[in-house]
This record gives sequence, C-alpha cells and structure tokens, in this order.
Amino acid sequence: MPVSDKMKSYAEKSSWIRKMFEEGAKMKAEHGAENVFDFSLGNPDAPPPEEFNKVILEAVTDTSPGVHSYMPNGGYPWVREAIAARMSAEQQTDISHGDMLMTCGAAGGLNVVMKAILNPGDEVIVLAPYFVEYGFYIDNHGGVTRVVSTDNNFNLDFEAIDRAVCEKTKAIIINSPNNPSGQIYPEGDLDRLGQLLRDKSAAHNTTIFMIADEPYRKITFDNHAVPPVFKSYTDAIVVSSYSKDLSLPGERIGYLAVHPDIKDKQQLLDAMTLANRILGFVNAPALMQRVVAELQDATVDTSIYARRKELICNILRDAGFHFTEPKGAFYVFPETPIKDDVKFVALLQNERILAVPGSGFGAPGYMRIAFCVPDKVIENSAEGFKNAVKKATR
Ligand code: PLP
Repeated sequence: MPVSDKMKSYAEKSSWIRKMFEEGAKMKAEHGAENVFDFSLGNPDAPPPEEFNKVILEAVTDTSPGVHSYMPNGGYPWVREAIAARMSAEQQTDISHGDMLMTCGAAGGLNVVMKAILNPGDEVIVLAPYFVEYGFYIDNHGGVTRVVSTDNNFNLDFEAIDRAVCEKTKAIIINSPNNPSGQIYPEGDLDRLGQLLRDKSAAHNTTIFMIADEPYRKITFDNHAVPPVFKSYTDAIVVSSYSKDLSLPGERIGYLAVHPDIKDKQQLLDAMTLANRILGFVNAPALMQRVVAELQDATVDTSIYARRKELICNILRDAGFHFTEPKGAFYVFPETPIKDDVKFVALLQNERILAVPGSGFGAPGYMRIAFCVPDKVIENSAEGFKNAVKKATR
C-alpha cells in the first residue's frame, strides 16, 4: 500500500468536496458548463482590485539585487510593518511588525500556529458548522478536534463551550465572518468568550488561546462589521490572508499576528517562525509580500458579493428554504427541507444544482451554497431550487 493509513482515512473524510467537484466536472461535460449551477466551491470570482494589476507589474519588473532571495522566515520586516499598521486600526490595539509573521495563506498560518502550540493529545475546539480543513490541520500536529455546536442562528453557544473546555483544551478557533454560515460574532459575545476562556485558563492553570481565522473580515454586507478580537482577549492570535479580500487564493499569501501582550510572546513567535521554516514553507512568497504591502487599503468590489447575496437569498426564500441571512463571506447555509441533507443535495443534483451537504461541515440537516459565481448562474438556478423542494416534500 503506497499511502499511509492516515492519508487513506483523510481522503475518505474529505470526500464531500471532492465528490461534488467530480460530479460537477462530469455534469459540465454532459450538459455544458452554462447549464450546471455549481455552488460547491468557495473560489472567489470577483476580480482582484485594479491597483493590484499596477502594483504587481511594478513588482515583477524590479531587478534590484536580492529581490528573489531567502529572507527572515517571518517575512520582510517592512511588509509586516505595513500590515501591522492596518491591523492596529482594525484591532484597536498597537501591533508592531515583531508581533507578526507572513504565511502561505491562512491555511499555512493555521498550521504554523498548531505546530507551535500543540502537544500530542491537546484539544482544539471548533464550532460547528466549521471549515472542514481545521480537523486536518489540528491532526497534522498531534491535536484532537473537539466539535462544539453553535446555536440556531450559528452564534456562540456559551453553555456548550463551557461544557467542552477541559484541562486538555489548548485553543478555540473562531471564524467570523463564518464559512459556511456567513455569521459574524458580535463584540459582546467575543467579550463573553474572552471572560470564559480567562476563567477556564485560571481554573485549569493553563493558557487557552483564542485563534481568530479572519480571511473574510473585509467581505461584509448591510453595514455589518467584524469586531476586534484583540480587545476582548489577550491570549489571542489572528490568522488571515489575501485569498478572499484581494481574490488571490492561488498566490498563497497570508499572515498572522499575536496580541502584543500575549503570554510568553517571544517564545511563541520564535516557535511559529521556526514552524514556518520547518513545515517546508520556509517563508511566504517574496513577490506577493512586496505586492500586498502596497495594497493595505484595497479590497475587491464587495458590492458584487452583496448583490449575489440578495439574489440567492430571494431565490431561496421564494423556494421556501429557512436560513439565517449571511452577514459576511460568500456562503449561505440553509436548512434542507428534509433532515437527510445528503439525499436533498442529490435531489438538487437532478436539477443540475451543486451544493455541499452540511454533514461535510459537522452540521447535518443543512447545506452550503457558495454564491461566488456569476449572477446568471444564480438567476438560472431558481426553478431548480423550487423543483427540488417540491420533490423533497411531496
Ligand atoms: N479559513 C477559512 C474559513 C476558509 O474558508 C479558507 C479558505 O477557503 C481558509 C481558512 C484558507 O484560506 P487561504 O487560502 O488563505 O489559505
């Protein structure tokens, strides 16, 4: 057997997204891409902002000595300075370049954090529905994923979190705006979570980290804003990237920042810098670091996603779905009209609509619709959603 038992089981666990991807390719070959309504992938389709094209052209023509060389494993200090300045405003906390690391996307950043903090058997709480890769990242570094449900509106369920925290709890990952629910946690809830973690850390004589995974921070709707986690908790780490807000997921550029007063700060930063190196990233891509440094005030045109959010929500409402309207990101997570989400997603497939069952996010009875697709795809899916509901409920 060429592959390890663990990778075999990983492949089985990740089969939902892969299955939808394969089904989608087959359906598009059979019916033509324009006749398949593929809501299965969170691949941002808004173009990068205009400034990006200008800045990257300048960056690629730079022939100064050393522009393609190795660098400090945490990234160029001046790039980190530019990002720290923007983050200081965002987090209402004075962050310096020394509190940050450039990473290969948020995914790279999360792996760096896990590598730095986890001992074998340490638990990390994730809040369902959750980005399914968290489980792999935690397991990559010997940790154990503890799944805790959110409430009916996908907000924090404090009793459930309270019950789940134990002496082995090393961290909790919060993701706001959330993939897949589109929920944004209000400041009061972050404060309450901070207090809970402080109390539990004291009770167990440990440090429980709050890891805020924020790649969708800038993609919000209807004037909703994402509160600063650093104001609510000191032992906090923010991980983010330019995959969504500059539409650069293929360029693998992201960053992380620790709270300036986090416990054992230097030891933690040294461990994360070493993790960046020995996980094989070595450092985040040099060209992209130089590019994003110039784009701290730029964002994709989020009105594109806001318009699509309205379009899909109207279609789902008309078809009779129950859902919490997303406040950010580009996903909506409706209840399936029958309990069996896998069966319902199959009914949608008969209508040439691809969605991902909630089971793939630790939340059966729901499905994820990624609305980062052209308006026409959304508009032309309306009949199919109605038909599937009729067939499911007759
Ligand atoms: N976290 C969440 C919630 C995501 O949805 C994604 C990507 O879809 C990531 C992290 C990883 O993002 P990146 O491309 O920056 O690695």
